[in-house]
Amino acid sequence: MTVLWAEQALLANGWAQDVAITLHGDRIASITPDAPPQGQRVGILLPAPTNLHSHAFQRAMAGLTERRGPDPRDSFWTWRQLMYRFLDRLTPDDVQAIAAFVQMEMAQAGYAAVAEFHYLHHAADGLPHANLAEMAERVAAAADQTGLGLTLLPVLYEFGGCDGRPLGAGQNRFGNTPDRFARLMDGAAAALRGLPADTVLGVAPHSLRAVSVDSLAFMAQLRPDAPIHMHLAEQMAEVDEVLAHRGARPVEWLLDNAQVDARWCLIHCTQMLPHETKGLAMSGAVAGLCPITESSLGDGIFDGVAYTAQGGRWGIGSDSNIRISLAEELRTLDYSQRLRDRSRAALATADKSTGRVLLEGATQGGAQAAGRDAGMIAVGKLADLVALNSAGPDMAGHRGDTALDAYIFAGDDRMVSDLWSAGRHLVTGGRHFAADAITAAYLATITKLRAQ
Ligand SMILES: [Zn+2]
Repeated sequence: MTVLWAEQALLANGWAQDVAITLHGDRIASITPDAPPQGQRVGILLPAPTNLHSHAFQRAMAGLTERRGPDPRDSFWTWRQLMYRFLDRLTPDDVQAIAAFVQMEMAQAGYAAVAEFHYLHHAADGLPHANLAEMAERVAAAADQTGLGLTLLPVLYEFGGCDGRPLGAGQNRFGNTPDRFARLMDGAAAALRGLPADTVLGVAPHSLRAVSVDSLAFMAQLRPDAPIHMHLAEQMAEVDEVLAHRGARPVEWLLDNAQVDARWCLIHCTQMLPHETKGLAMSGAVAGLCPITESSLGDGIFDGVAYTAQGGRWGIGSDSNIRISLAEELRTLDYSQRLRDRSRAALATADKSTGRVLLEGATQGGAQAAGRDAGMIAVGKLADLVALNSAGPDMAGHRGDTALDAYIFAGDDRMVSDLWSAGRHLVTGGRHFAADAITAAYLATITKLRAQ
């Protein structure tokens, strides 16, 4: 039994002061406001979100994609060519070292868990490893080392485009037929067996570009109650391609042709018309927003104002991991709305500030998308908790929602003092318990990769 005591805590029903919280195993066992100081003391205790979209290996590319290529206009598609060339060098050992480093950074940024959208399956020559699920095992091994909650989403990637063309040279490490993918899923399930009980295995058809209509139906029934994630409507060229081959825009087509409900998480959706925004909001699915990556790749701006006004659920992912920062993801999302609409505080409601709406939205949507029984500080929920330092020039004296606004708009992840993932105390004093070993292994890997 662990006992925490927080000066302030954001509970399921709002802010409380002097809160004692007991953890039993991976869950919250009791919550007592107005309690005398006891146990481990923290400043501001919040529910910790799940990072709902990550491609861990892309972290090692940060800083490598900011030069102009030979194309007249650099874009998502030229970036993707660089990404393919980069990943050709990665070995299973590299992937494990990068994944552990990324997960450590996520914990230190205040995320309690990650949904890893895992598509780098095969060896550098494009052939499967002797163990089909080798790479899934490496992601699982990283989670075992870091303690970060893991929802593993093995990805089915069949084709190079909507017309069913074969995979391009850079895509051979991703490819599987549905049959082989089913075997890979068995291997992934075995890889997760030694991990804690909060670990989840879901599925991810890569995108409407990369799976057939039949395979999408196959994926939806492969694990009928598990999370299902898919990239959707990220780029204009993708919208045009889906429209040309399937007679409807990506979000339109999916809502008409799949049973999209609360187990679905649709990543990006930066290219939607108003009726699609409304349809997605009504479906109960989570929109997986990745504001830093979407900025980096020039994807466009998600219509968060209309979507949340219609009750849409959403969460945050770090996607390309070019920068891992929970506070900055939330700030970027809100600033994108302001810049587009020439407005301020557009997501705030009559009784909740911008920071409160952002944190609660990301936390509840992230838990739903990851299939995690978390998302709020309430008895019986998984103990996914993040504590912020209440001292320091930007936070001192702030109470309630204003503290969240200070954290997101004036501060950053350096305010994170502690993090618990399903009761596992991963971060103390802003530092992950295995930071030295994980950082040393990552440095060795990245030094080798940069010398190649
Ligand atoms: Zn992605």
